[in-house]
Amino acid sequence: MFVSTLDTTIEFLKGVGPKRAELFQKELGIFTYEHLLNFFPFRYIDRTRFYKISELDPELPYVQILGRITSKEQIGEKHKKRLVARLTDETGSIELVWFQSLKWVDENVTKGKVYIVFGKPTVFNGSFSISHPDLENYPRPTTITGNLRLQPVYHSTEKLKKFFLDSRGIQKLQTLLIEQHLKEIAETIPPYILEKYQMVGRKEALLNIHFPKDVKSLKSAERRLKFEELFYIQLQLLHNKQLREMRFKGHSFEIVGERINTFYKEILPFQLTNAQKRVIKEIRLDTQRGIQMNRLVQGDVGSGKTVVALMSMLLASDNGYQACMMAPTEILARQHYQSIVDLLKDRLVKVAILTGSSTKKQRTQLHNDLEAGEIDILVGTHALIEDKVVFKNLGLVVIDEQHRFGVEQRAKLWRKNVIPPHILVMTATPIPRTLAMTLYGDLDVSIIDELPVGRKPIETRHLYEGQRLRMFGFMKEEIRKGRQVYIVYPLIKESEKLDLLHLEAGIEQLSYHFPLPDYQLSIVHGKMSNADKQFEMQRFIDHKTQIMVATTVIEVGVNVPNASIMVIENAERFGLSQLHQLRGRVGRGAEQSFCILMSGNKLSPDGKLRLETMVKTNNGFEISEIDLQLRGPGDISGTQQSGVLELKLADLAKDQQILQEARNTVIETLSEDPNLENPQNSLLRTYLSKKSRGIAFDKIS
Ligand code: ADP
Ligand code: MG
Repeated sequence: MFVSTLDTTIEFLKGVGPKRAELFQKELGIFTYEHLLNFFPFRYIDRTRFYKISELDPELPYVQILGRITSKEQIGEKHKKRLVARLTDETGSIELVWFQSLKWVDENVTKGKVYIVFGKPTVFNGSFSISHPDLENYPRPTTITGNLRLQPVYHSTEKLKKFFLDSRGIQKLQTLLIEQHLKEIAETIPPYILEKYQMVGRKEALLNIHFPKDVKSLKSAERRLKFEELFYIQLQLLHNKQLREMRFKGHSFEIVGERINTFYKEILPFQLTNAQKRVIKEIRLDTQRGIQMNRLVQGDVGSGKTVVALMSMLLASDNGYQACMMAPTEILARQHYQSIVDLLKDRLVKVAILTGSSTKKQRTQLHNDLEAGEIDILVGTHALIEDKVVFKNLGLVVIDEQHRFGVEQRAKLWRKNVIPPHILVMTATPIPRTLAMTLYGDLDVSIIDELPVGRKPIETRHLYEGQRLRMFGFMKEEIRKGRQVYIVYPLIKESEKLDLLHLEAGIEQLSYHFPLPDYQLSIVHGKMSNADKQFEMQRFIDHKTQIMVATTVIEVGVNVPNASIMVIENAERFGLSQLHQLRGRVGRGAEQSFCILMSGNKLSPDGKLRLETMVKTNNGFEISEIDLQLRGPGDISGTQQSGVLELKLADLAKDQQILQEARNTVIETLSEDPNLENPQNSLLRTYLSKKSRGIAFDKIS
């Protein structure tokens, strides 16, 4: 693309210069004109309303008054010097006061003239005054940026403010840029797309984001700029997906064969839910195409993901391929192995396990069997990725709890066969749709949004400290019936010491109320060695202990069906999705399960809403949406690493519709014109080729 004046270094903009340019770069990352144009206001002040002086009220925030300066004088001595002017309208008068820049003010404020005055009124000595008001000439000039109804407010920093680059100062520079360079602003979205969604062009959008004519123009500007932001993220994601699919072939699982059929008809002890059936079908269709599958399966805890994984692996096996399933920890790997062995009842396929603690002898045997193709399904931990582990013909990899695996590890898996295996990622952390589309926009997503019938929903209660003895009584009752209990304490890094104190005090109290030898406790916390942790977990799994006291190190996905109570201490300190994850540790057996949220009496509004939400619903997708509204996308687990979410304008909690439109547009465009050869898509092709060379349109980088 041609070089544009907008690529000029900000230093050369009138009123900037080298010192401020340096500050702009350091403080706000603004290097060029274009960067500054893409530095948007974060809010606007309504300047359509004029107040009469008689209407003023100390409660009002900023007000705008039209009046005449009827007097002006400098008073006070040296250090306490100030300039006081009186502003009068037909209903009364107030004082305007300046403590700084007196000379400038004196020269620019003329007695007898009418001004538009803008500022926050305060009461002083029983009458109103405004310190350091903004004054504008009346009538307002009619230039494009002159007649502001909505005044933009820009973020600034202490350092910038020292150099007069406060919101007002930045606004002045924006005015200059827009007035001089509006014509040079280039379009970034093909006109046919703008037309289809009735969006304004980039010039109009930038003009109105900085200097909105009215609320309606501001809204259309925002919509257009949000669309642009989301559109290019989707283009990038979906284009990568398309490249991957063109570049890599995939194994074709054409047969729905004997193993999967026998399992389904003869062995499976329950009816699949409709959601499970649908997802298995999605996987089946996807693995038939001769293109590598990259699919994310989202399903709440207990929604039955294991059987979906198993049936997919049987499908691989029916087609002559091996499959493996990888879990983030040893305990989880063993549990998966056990579930799979149990489900299969020793029939149909040969299943093996490989973890860090497999002995050398076991390994050697396993490596041989694997290479000879005598093992059909291998379950394990990261140990699976090691180069020594060679498959005869790996066709499918199932990854449980994706966020713990890095990109490199996944890449290693890809290389385990000439044609990369299909990848199925399972996660029990439901994330909101908009996040999924953005974070995993290059994967296909399947959702298991239904729990098996007959499962008793977990009952959740919120109790205060005063109700603790009742809670202990309830625990005893359940333990007498043979159940087990988890008690979880928060562990937040900044106050690790305090947390440990809480934990210790809690254990002391528990030991008093649940004395030996009738009650046995397992204790697991972050300061213990892995071996000790494993040992304690295992005692609980083997029902040698009735109560598991833990900080949040409790493994994601650990399955102890006999544990029916989850007590969460200081529950107000946990995030919603974490609370939901923890609750998911119970409700896995036939018994009615309970989740008890203990909290102090003082709750923040957000804390209260979180606990209420937990009591109200068991649905992980619903909870994740509320979590997104409460915390914003940046704090939702797994999103931090993703630069994708540093959105300038779009908000994944609010802009679902725009995101969907942007994604649909990209999907349509790429399906009609996969290589973006059509001249009307040339902008998009330019963008992608710049991006692949590490350069991007400024606004998106
Ligand atoms: P998760 O999705 O949390 O991994 P699991 O796969 O561990 O859930 O399944 C939880 C329990 O539900 C297991 O005991 C499993 O055998 C059982 N289960 C799975 N699907 C069904 C179904 N359709 N009907 C009844 N029970 C099911
Ligand atoms: Mg699971």
